[in-house]
Amino acid sequence: MRTNFLPFSKPSISEPEIAEVSKILRSGWITTGAKATEFEEAFQKYCTADGAVALNSATAGMHLLLSAMDIGPGDEVITPSMTWVSTVNLIKLAGATPVFADIDQDTLMVSARTVAPLINDRTRLIIPVHFAGAALDLKPLQKLAAEKQIKLVEDAAHAVGTEYHGVKIGQQGTAIFSFHPIKNMTCGEGGMFCSDDAELLAHIRRLKFHGLGVDAYDRNVQGRAPQAEVMEPGFKYNLTDIAASLGLGQLARLDSFIEKRTLLARRYLELLADIEEISPLTVPSYPMRHAWHLFIIRLKNNRSGIDRETFMMELKSRNIGSGIHFKAVHTQKFYRETLPQAKNALPVTEWNSERICSLPLFPDMTLEDVDDVVAAIKEVLA
Ligand SMILES: *Cc1c(COP(=O)(O)O)cnc(C)c1O
Repeated sequence: MRTNFLPFSKPSISEPEIAEVSKILRSGWITTGAKATEFEEAFQKYCTADGAVALNSATAGMHLLLSAMDIGPGDEVITPSMTWVSTVNLIKLAGATPVFADIDQDTLMVSARTVAPLINDRTRLIIPVHFAGAALDLKPLQKLAAEKQIKLVEDAAHAVGTEYHGVKIGQQGTAIFSFHPIKNMTCGEGGMFCSDDAELLAHIRRLKFHGLGVDAYDRNVQGRAPQAEVMEPGFKYNLTDIAASLGLGQLARLDSFIEKRTLLARRYLELLADIEEISPLTVPSYPMRHAWHLFIIRLKNNRSGIDRETFMMELKSRNIGSGIHFKAVHTQKFYRETLPQAKNALPVTEWNSERICSLPLFPDMTLEDVDDVVAAIKEVLA
């Protein structure tokens, strides 16, 4: 058995990155400034996006989007229930109605097939999720959204570095990325809003800082532009230079992170293939680059009869961490009570919500760590 605990996720922070952050701390300018701009430009270049706005979280990006689109009472927004709670909370807080699309059994992603029947006159926005580092099948969704003239915005929190048909997520359309510490790259907390809609991008840039026409930082005066005035009421979601300097370091290492994650995921797939009770997610067959943000398995009926919670506890007692991504939003207390779903409306979401489990996967892990996880799984199921 392992003598030290293997967490299910851990950020990889290098000494040069720490040195860069220290430089900012000593520089006299620590909030949004030149580094945040540099980070936006580097990220935009990496994704070959038309434009990028750095924010202090992906949740902030989603809030700004709903606000920019003036989404509110009477509006419906289609999104999966198999997602992080932030999106659904924001739709609810805006006074709009979240409408849940069911997902594919083995990729946990919505599709044009599950979204189309939910569209009506009140539908304003569709927010699908690129799940676990895999790419959504975007083309049919884009076609559907265009036909119905509904905005499509990708939740790309898991998809930094993911490609679909040879195109980086973020290059086309509108996508929101997260740099929370469990994601593929981090800056402590942070997010990026990418879009090819110049007007929307300008609006997001304004709303992210009090609705002022300018950023917190003016390159010319090396400080806050004193003449700035409110164009419309906005929020306070700007990314600090402290965070941006870490983001720049992480972005430079992102491709090596993904290569390592891919190597680890392949080892998992190989070693788990002959364990009947374990069913990993499948990799979609359309052309894409998987960023392997998460390695998710489903625990199926097993001879030992143990449930998922016991399985995770048994792994923990063998020094292996694990997680759940995610407990379906519609099954959580507030949404059970305020947004009850018709029986059997989301069968695939519910089946997976009860069985999924994320195994350790992060760049500083070794192949031997994967072997340890699989050995522990075999022991627990024996
Ligand atoms: C992490 C995550 C978010 C939120 O990102 P933050 O940067 O923490 O706000 C949104 N959606 C999904 C699917 C996520 O996993």
